[in-house]
Amino acid sequence: MRIGHGYDVHRLTEGRKLILGGVDIPYEKGLLGHSDADVLVHAVMDALLGAMGAPDIGQLFPDKDPAYKGADSMVLLTRVAEIMRERGYTLGNVDATVLAQAPKLAPHIPAMRENIARVLGVSVEQVNVKATTEEHLGFTGSDDGMAAHAVCLLL
Ligand code: MG
Repeated sequence: MRIGHGYDVHRLTEGRKLILGGVDIPYEKGLLGHSDADVLVHAVMDALLGAMGAPDIGQLFPDKDPAYKGADSMVLLTRVAEIMRERGYTLGNVDATVLAQAPKLAPHIPAMRENIARVLGVSVEQVNVKATTEEHLGFTGSDDGMAAHAVCLLL
């Protein structure tokens, strides 16, 4: 059994889509990044790669590489799932938390879990996504950015 941890942060800005767990969420701001800046999927990928002892997403999908400009993070997750299979791992479970003051994420969480589970080829019960506000404290609490944590077990 191997444990992995992932953490990511992206800045919120106007004029960008808000994509979390592959879900396009209506909001006045979106996350800034070279890819679609899906902070949740980035944390999940780094947890999986971490558990494998593999290089992190910054090395795997460099933000200097034009190939990843505007990249769909679900496509990048597909690649991480392939690496898992190539190395002979199966996913026990992944558990993630998104830190965001707004908007309300609860209505979108079932779709996020389904998207991630589908790409990883596991059941929805193996992929948990939670969300919390930060009581208006810090950069996540002031709506300047979002962060995500993820842990996973690989078998
Ligand atoms: Mg990121």
